[in-house]
Amino acid sequence: YDPKTHTISYLQTRTYLPVKSLPPREKKRILVTGGAGFVGSHLVDRLMLMGHEVIVIDNFFTGRKNNVGHWIGHPNFELIRHDVVDPFLIEVDQIYHLACPASPPHYQYNPIKTVKTSVMGTINMLGLAKRVKAQVYGDPEEHPQAETYWGNVNPIGPRACYDEGKRVAETLTYAYMNQDCVDVRVARIFNTFGPRMNANDGRVVSNFIMQALKGEDLTIYGDGLQTRSFQYVHDLVDGLILLMNADYKEPINLGNPDEYTIREFAELIINEVNTSCKIKTLPAPKDDPKKRRPDIRRAEQILGWKPRWPVKQGIGETVKYFQRQLEAGLI
Ligand code: UDP
Repeated sequence: YDPKTHTISYLQTRTYLPVKSLPPREKKRILVTGGAGFVGSHLVDRLMLMGHEVIVIDNFFTGRKNNVGHWIGHPNFELIRHDVVDPFLIEVDQIYHLACPASPPHYQYNPIKTVKTSVMGTINMLGLAKRVKAQVYGDPEEHPQAETYWGNVNPIGPRACYDEGKRVAETLTYAYMNQDCVDVRVARIFNTFGPRMNANDGRVVSNFIMQALKGEDLTIYGDGLQTRSFQYVHDLVDGLILLMNADYKEPINLGNPDEYTIREFAELIINEVNTSCKIKTLPAPKDDPKKRRPDIRRAEQILGWKPRWPVKQGIGETVKYFQRQLEAGLI
């Protein structure tokens, strides 16, 4: 700053990844709730690179500024600290509603808040969409199989705050569609992993990789015969964008059907990290689903989508990410 001339000279100009330049009629204003989170920030990257204008709202409970730090200051990007439980008014063309803690320890930390986030957050976003005629992406997840399966949730169990929150979010979404003609999309997202996951979010992928990198025993809850199917985050982002831009209103499963028992998965990670860590068994959590694997025929037929990242390759990338974070002293 030069006090004589009152001029500010910027010594450093930031460089950004190159974004596409879109003609005005193709350039959309897109709101991403939870856009500083693990999945949200990857979606933001993709939408920014495509040349859209992106507005992120996040309360930073599980999201981190760092996840989108590389876009701060970019003319197409805006980051707002806001909790979706409170109303939010803005003019946008599309809304991806991803705000909600998704790992059991995080969403069970404050179950009331988790239900409020799903229910009030979804009401607020649908209300916004109704006012501005935007499209909405809800973020529901159902236990196994095809979209036609109605699920099986213990309404007073420890997972209910998340599961029932998602279920009522779907009910709300279709009520707004039928009653107020809001243009909705619903993705049912299955277990997803990749860089920018929280190292300490307590989920199986981050726990096992961190334990393997630190040379600790891998903790299997229960007998380890329960199954999960894991998708790499880039596949999910592809699916979300395809769904948003398809003319299809019913729920669509997005997940990788490649199913592992948790014990097999522990072994896969021990191999990928190339360590001699052992496995130890801890008690199974209450209401832990025994099997989960998406039927993705609908996504294949309607969106022409299927996962492209083999689980092993995605795990390799994620291990490298956690390794870099550990070396940099960030975790
Ligand atoms: N799990 C485990 N060890 C861990 C963390 C999780 O065996 O350190 C198990 C957990 O009991 C569940 C599966 O791995 O059966 C997936 O758990 P996660 O918390 O990742 O997500 P969920 O799919 O249950 O929501």
